[in-house]
Amino acid sequence: MKIIFLNVPGHGHVNPTLPVTAELIRRGHDIIYYSTADFGTKIAQTGAEFRPYPEPQPSTEDLNQRASNLVNVTLWLLEQSERLLPWLLKELKQEQPDLVVFDSICLWGMQAASLLKLPAVSSISTFVQEGVRGMMTFWDGVAIVRQALPKLPGLIRQRRRLVRQFGPDVFPYSHIFPCISGTNIVYTSREFQPETGFIDDTFHFVGPSLNTETRETAAFPWHLLATDGRPLIYLSLGTVYHKKEAFYQTAFQQFATYPAQFILSAGRTTEIDTLGPIPDNFIVQNFVPQLELLPRVSAFITHGGMNSVNEGLYFGVPLIVVPQQMEQTLNGRQAARHGAAIVLGDHPPYGRTTPTELQTALETVLTNDSYRQNAKRIGNSFKKSGGYLAAADLITAAL
Ligand code: UDP
Repeated sequence: MKIIFLNVPGHGHVNPTLPVTAELIRRGHDIIYYSTADFGTKIAQTGAEFRPYPEPQPSTEDLNQRASNLVNVTLWLLEQSERLLPWLLKELKQEQPDLVVFDSICLWGMQAASLLKLPAVSSISTFVQEGVRGMMTFWDGVAIVRQALPKLPGLIRQRRRLVRQFGPDVFPYSHIFPCISGTNIVYTSREFQPETGFIDDTFHFVGPSLNTETRETAAFPWHLLATDGRPLIYLSLGTVYHKKEAFYQTAFQQFATYPAQFILSAGRTTEIDTLGPIPDNFIVQNFVPQLELLPRVSAFITHGGMNSVNEGLYFGVPLIVVPQQMEQTLNGRQAARHGAAIVLGDHPPYGRTTPTELQTALETVLTNDSYRQNAKRIGNSFKKSGGYLAAADLITAAL
């Protein structure tokens, strides 16, 4: 059968689909996967046929710049839809796929499938946030309103333009996000998903979709890892919000004499040479093989991206979440509710913490075993959910 994947240019959205794609190909299906050129290599490695979006491509930089403002990102996705839909409708009519799989923010994917009445599956790499109550503070609400108000008229205008051009079926639901379908695959467990009445029996919680074989390889000096019993601490702010030199320098100063070894993934665009002297107990790289490192670490200082939270907990690692935006704040709070994380700097404008807070949080998760036990409990709920194999079963069933 022929399956078409459509995604946005974000590692957090693409990564969980890679093991699923490889598994579907192993089962004999043909996959065409549309994304932007910078994802071509890792998508093609799964065996899928990679096809780039037409120029000008919706770029990772554009998405990243807007990612911390929910209304900005929505407006941008609506604009991309208007541009991509005519091309995509033609492409899908020509390819005649048996099924379309779109990411839950890949608006053009859902819209094209809806307009052409194609069977479709949604791939949801975040929590289902629609209808979730009790996770936001008053100040989070104020921050959202401040962001939203000036952009709201533009957003409504853009929505109307799409309806005028493509008809009412371009918005098959009253809400815009998450983009959903008759089968919705969520890469976390039902136990870890916050309660919401929005979830019905079309939502399937398969847990994190992890497979080291479909990940980009990254060289790592494994021989430099401490063998003297010191705990190993992993620090990463992910692939989008990592240009935080001051934060890394604070960690260097605070932990240079701390009895632990630290691995810092400083992000692809951070110039490590400009960070100043690196303490002896730190290994710093632009990118690390996160999935292979996590089973060895005692704590993970993370920005709280959904994949990082899922991956850390999958391996039973307690988290210290320093969120850089609202969604990561909610991810961190959910892990904290389950007793597996401490969240720092979760007051708008997110991410501000002091060196002392950071050290106290680290000591707490290292010495109080309940954090590790709770992380393991959630990790077990993930492992029982079936991962990429369960996702491939659901997609096959939807065919
Ligand atoms: N990642 C990695 N090595 C690194 C940094 C990140 O493999 O050095 C991967 C990580 O395993 C995760 C993804 O990049 O799958 C980051 O996604 P997440 O949702 O955590 O955050 P985002 O980058 O989207 O903010």
